[in-house]
Amino acid sequence: MLHADELPAGFVLGQLLDRVDWAPGLTTFNVEARVQPGLAGQFHMLALPGPDGSLVRRAYSLASAPEAPLEFLVVEVPGGALTPALFALRPGDGLALSERPEGTFHLGRVPDARDLWLISTGTGIAPYLAMLRTPEPWARFQRIVLVHGVRQQADLAYRGLLEAMDLVYLPVVSREPAALRGRIPALLQDGSLEAAAGVRLQAEHSQVMLCGNPEMTGEMQALLEARGLRRNRAREPGQITAERYW
Ligand SMILES: Cc1cc2nc3c(=O)[nH]c(=O)nc-3n(C[C@H](O)[C@H](O)[C@H](O)COP(=O)(O)OP(=O)(O)OC[C@H]3O[C@@H](n4cnc5c(N)ncnc54)[C@H](O)[C@@H]3O)c2cc1C
Repeated sequence: MLHADELPAGFVLGQLLDRVDWAPGLTTFNVEARVQPGLAGQFHMLALPGPDGSLVRRAYSLASAPEAPLEFLVVEVPGGALTPALFALRPGDGLALSERPEGTFHLGRVPDARDLWLISTGTGIAPYLAMLRTPEPWARFQRIVLVHGVRQQADLAYRGLLEAMDLVYLPVVSREPAALRGRIPALLQDGSLEAAAGVRLQAEHSQVMLCGNPEMTGEMQALLEARGLRRNRAREPGQITAERYW
């Protein structure tokens, strides 16, 4: 049982309001907590007591817009230190959250361009949901392409919401038949990702965000660099902004 007065500095006690189970081991946790608002794309630490009583804490991107009710999209990692305990929570249960959102994976770090490519695997779509729920990307970019790589169709969380948005939504499924089947880097290499998007991914027109599985973010960065795109750095703007989840 968590008590607010026993939490480490910087943590607040929250409560699970309800959960949306998209597929086994893939859930949105709707949480009530007094946290500070941040920037779309940032993350909070979620924490629960581990077997020895000490808090186990991990980073989770907000899928909700700043100041909206808190939503976290989480995949259960079997044998993981935190996620099995998180998935055992029921509405009304308590959990700890870091009070201040953190992180530099937000549109404030992304220069203007004609096209914004938001490329994710799994729960790496969460920060993009937060961004797309704010006016900023719609005001700054003419075209938004959202690529979501998953294993099975059932893992395409938020599909209905994304299909209703004025963007190019490209689900990529690796283990079931699909219009785009396979791995995102392979589909960039063979041209099918750009064919489906109806636009070339070129340095002069594009900003690219990468989020999720480190194999995908690493391979994509290498492929994009081979096309002349560069990482965005504080003093040297480029076209690639990346967040690795592990
Ligand atoms: C900035 C940031 C934001 C993040 N946002 C999210 C988010 O919105 N949703 C989310 O589900 N996770 C997110 N993560 C990952 C999250 O912090 C944890 O690493 C993950 O939930 C596993 O925690 P665990 O304690 O259960 O497993 P651990 O005991 O920490 O990990 C066991 C092993 O599982 C592997 N692993 C970790 N994460 C995953 C994963 N997602 N899929 C498959 N294998 C994995 C790693 O190899 C790890 O060594 C984020 C990570 C970072 C750094």
